[in-house]
Amino acid sequence: MKVWVGIDDTDSVNGMCTTYLALLAMDKVEKFGRVVGFPRLIRLNPTIPYKTRGNGAVAFLVETDDVENVIEVVDDVIIEHSMMSDDSTNPGAVFVNFENDRLMSHLTKFARKAVRDIVSLDEALFIIGKYFIPHLKYKKGRGLIGALSAVGYDGHDYTYELLAYRMPERFGTPRGIDEDSFYEADELYYPKIWDTVDWRNRIVVCVPKGKDPVLYGIRGSDYNAINSAVEILRTEEVDRKMMFITNQSTDAHLIDEDEVNEVKNFHSYIIRGTVVQKPYIHKGGHVFFTIKTKFGEVKCSAFEPTKQFRDVVLKLIEGDEVRVFGAMKKNTINLEKMEVIKLVRFRYSNPKCPICGKRMKSSGRNKPFRCKNCKTTAESRVKEKIDRDLSEGFYEVPPCARGHISKPLVRMDVPNKNIFR
Ligand SMILES: [Zn+2]
Repeated sequence: MKVWVGIDDTDSVNGMCTTYLALLAMDKVEKFGRVVGFPRLIRLNPTIPYKTRGNGAVAFLVETDDVENVIEVVDDVIIEHSMMSDDSTNPGAVFVNFENDRLMSHLTKFARKAVRDIVSLDEALFIIGKYFIPHLKYKKGRGLIGALSAVGYDGHDYTYELLAYRMPERFGTPRGIDEDSFYEADELYYPKIWDTVDWRNRIVVCVPKGKDPVLYGIRGSDYNAINSAVEILRTEEVDRKMMFITNQSTDAHLIDEDEVNEVKNFHSYIIRGTVVQKPYIHKGGHVFFTIKTKFGEVKCSAFEPTKQFRDVVLKLIEGDEVRVFGAMKKNTINLEKMEVIKLVRFRYSNPKCPICGKRMKSSGRNKPFRCKNCKTTAESRVKEKIDRDLSEGFYEVPPCARGHISKPLVRMDVPNKNIFR
């Protein structure tokens, strides 16, 4: 039979990575079956506050006649390798019969909710109980949510990420990489791979900073291109590599405004609106502005880490029509992308005096505008062109500020893309 193995919440900021732990499990599972296809790396709702580092869960498909032993080796690996001593690490694993269509379609709905909304541990336990799903629960077992989601996720849109792992004795030490080789790989294989480096901010974004086992992760739409790109990279010794199929770079977390009647914190949206309060820089370099939407006024932000994207946002003025893409936290949409739909190009101002050139003053309702000094008058306000140093189209944050699930513009089939590379 074919069994999906889902695993989540085995890591912490102090180390490990659920993808790596899944790899160790896949190795041991091979004794009792065969792993079929690429494993999956599914990112859940990025706004959830109790997430582990990247809020990513893993699932892989095993063909086996010995589910008992598969469960046992996964149990062994989790106990041996997960960051169990960390309070916020609460691992979970599930073993789901691939052929149970009713269960799989239930899990697909559950997964969609886990990526865009909030699910409780009780909801996960309910499904496990209803379908008698074999599972492993450690401590609070929060990982069961991600484990079920990774199994059930139905990606109409998906991408790949090849993760390379370090030799275990090097975990926790600075990563040895030749940065130039990552720029070379990007130059050759972009846009089949993306978010490898951030040229303008001079950051190799695909190399993490933490204590986890990952050396780098190359993201892309074409696994042949990813494999070729990896050939070019010059780094410390790589222990092993694994290609994952993933919902990263797909915008799967975004809820369209047409689907809902209100906007809530811990959800991510696409909302259209008109700028009613022009952007301003707050201390720390964060930029804020307000738009009027079908939900009322919504505050938006481009935080300091979004770097040059803030310069675009700061060019907006009252009346501009935009569509914002981002996560709502503290009643503010944190922009990941923006479409400038329509810019205000004219304004109505008091007429200028034809003699002295100063603006005329209004002399009251239904009375003409006057220049006191020159005694000139004019009947109405005049339409004036505004010089805009901005054009309609799509804008995005730089690669160094991109969230895992956010779709880069290079993947979007839209006109007037201002791609940040
Ligand atoms: Zn005048």
